[in-house]
Amino acid sequence: MAPRPSRGAFFFASELSNPRATQAPLNEMSDRLLSPVESAWIRDRARALGFDECGVAPAEKFPELDNFSEWLERGYGGEMKYLEDPRRRDPRHPMPAARSLIVCALNYNGEPPYSTECETAVSDYASPRGWISRYAWGDDYHEVLWEKLNKLAAEMRAHFPEPFELRAYADTGPIHERVAAKYAGLGWLGRNTLLISQSLGSWLFLCVILTSLPLTPTLGPADAPPPDRCGSCRRCLVACPTQAIVEPYLLDASRCISYLTIELRGSIPEEFREPMGRHVFGCDICQDVCPWNRKSPRTNLPEFRPRALQTPAGESAPDSLYLPDLLKIANLSLQEFREVFRSSSIKRTKWAGLVRNACIALGNSFVRPDSVRQKQIVSVLDKLSRADDATIRESAQWALSRIQSTAQ
Ligand code: SF4
Repeated sequence: MAPRPSRGAFFFASELSNPRATQAPLNEMSDRLLSPVESAWIRDRARALGFDECGVAPAEKFPELDNFSEWLERGYGGEMKYLEDPRRRDPRHPMPAARSLIVCALNYNGEPPYSTECETAVSDYASPRGWISRYAWGDDYHEVLWEKLNKLAAEMRAHFPEPFELRAYADTGPIHERVAAKYAGLGWLGRNTLLISQSLGSWLFLCVILTSLPLTPTLGPADAPPPDRCGSCRRCLVACPTQAIVEPYLLDASRCISYLTIELRGSIPEEFREPMGRHVFGCDICQDVCPWNRKSPRTNLPEFRPRALQTPAGESAPDSLYLPDLLKIANLSLQEFREVFRSSSIKRTKWAGLVRNACIALGNSFVRPDSVRQKQIVSVLDKLSRADDATIRESAQWALSRIQSTAQ
């Protein structure tokens, strides 16, 4: 699943037990380690290539992974069958000679306000607006991460003379990046299950390099991972519209709006449609409300700026993937979808998924009854309620009936 993001797919770390109980030092590496100077060199090169943070963890079976089978058995992974890949249970499965995990983090927190701050901005527009998750506004994060990660891998190959194995994953391999990031000293796993850095917050893409190099871990043998700083806060649990965080540190991904709008194929269960509100791709709420994101630094990487959407006729405000026009999204043809979202992570939900989501968001838009705008919405939904795709048809019919029932 995508970056809740790292995201993605950064998404689903589960901790069925209190992570405070799993903060014992992990370092079991026994044989010789390379000098700490080499780990520092890797960190310096990662930062020079544009990553905001980098740490080294031993390639070991992390305690959190013991709970992963139970998490899957509870059905919390929904239809994400790729999470059942047995190689996910130990980072040494995909590379038996693995000794180290290099975890890199890249901040994607763009300038526009958080979804929980933009109600006023929404009312500035004449037409109903949707919400696309912050990580998906710009270029496909996989490509942005790959470019930096491949450069780092090339520099490592040139720097270390002895033969060694190296495999790089940008949200693409059987590694739980968030758990690895915790043991690389980058932060703690918050009650919303995301990695939180004390200095950067949680708007972070995570990617890893798995290698047979015996690097000195960032955390020493006597060091515990960064402490949990959630304190008594429960904002993310309270704010989640679908109650996907079923208890602190435990996410039922099958209830998460990010899963519903991106990973789930077919119709979205009715119980979640109204709570989905105007979300058309992903959800940021559990991060928007997190106090550790109040002062998160903003990125000025042009790759993460919201892409432009063609401005609808008569619309004074420019249109982009930040608060996009829902009618425009619902009206996209398959061909237009392919053009607009080329090299965008939004293509993961596929055309039918995005139009399905826009139908539901339109059903949740409260437009003045008998207004010109409402007539436009009804006209678009009426057309989609006769679409060839059964999921779009059913979603449009639900939205039409909801608009008609709320208009009475
Ligand atoms: Fe932790 Fe509060 Fe952030 Fe949730 S909102 S992750 S409880 S600090």
